Amino acid sequence: MVLASILDAAEKAGYDRIGISDHCYSFDLNSERIKELRAEVAAASKERNIRVYLGIEAYVIRHHLASVSHQIAALFDFVLVAPNHYHIRSVAKPVRMDARILADHELYMFEAAANHPVTDVVAHPFILSPRIFRIAAERLAQLSQDVMASVDEKRLALCLDRMRERGLAVELNPKFLAFDQEHVEWFYRLCVERGVLLSVGNDAHSLDDIPLSDDAQGFIDSLGLTEAGLWHPLSFD
Ligand SMILES: [Zn+2]
Repeated sequence: MVLASILDAAEKAGYDRIGISDHCYSFDLNSERIKELRAEVAAASKERNIRVYLGIEAYVIRHHLASVSHQIAALFDFVLVAPNHYHIRSVAKPVRMDARILADHELYMFEAAANHPVTDVVAHPFILSPRIFRIAAERLAQLSQDVMASVDEKRLALCLDRMRERGLAVELNPKFLAFDQEHVEWFYRLCVERGVLLSVGNDAHSLDDIPLSDDAQGFIDSLGLTEAGLWHPLSFD
């Protein structure tokens, strides 16, 4: 996953704009390092027909607290904030693996991500990773359906409406297909219905993940998204 190979794969997949983001702890949160990285990205994309935005993926620790400062966030083109990085020690966790408790907790963390001032995009909300929860994928898929059914819809709708007003986006993350978590489809449709922008992510941790699968593309097509429904970062320059 070095810059040149990522851009090769992205061009091959037919993208004309991409955002690249690493996890916030990978940058040493050092402004000089980030400026160097911006220069590397600019140099690598210069001879190519692809626009590259440099972002960062931070995470919610608890309400009002995210893992990135305003000063560091300002050095990136976009900031993803993940509500459910439960594998990180400091992140507030659900007290019990019970659908109602998880639903309340997921919503609390989603609101925390959506309301944080540095957030541009809320990363992979309501997708429960079997790796993080250490539960068999089929059991987690069933549990996550019950979680979504228990979410306070009114609170969720209010939160989405505030996101729409602020021009924030929800990341449509195709990993839910691999985890068989179809409850997320309902959530994405709710986002579209309420006019919340979507940002298409691929959560690529390897070059093979860069092109979207046919299933992911098919689902995106089924949403009837137009260009106006897609979120784009503001250009840094
Ligand atoms: Zn993440």
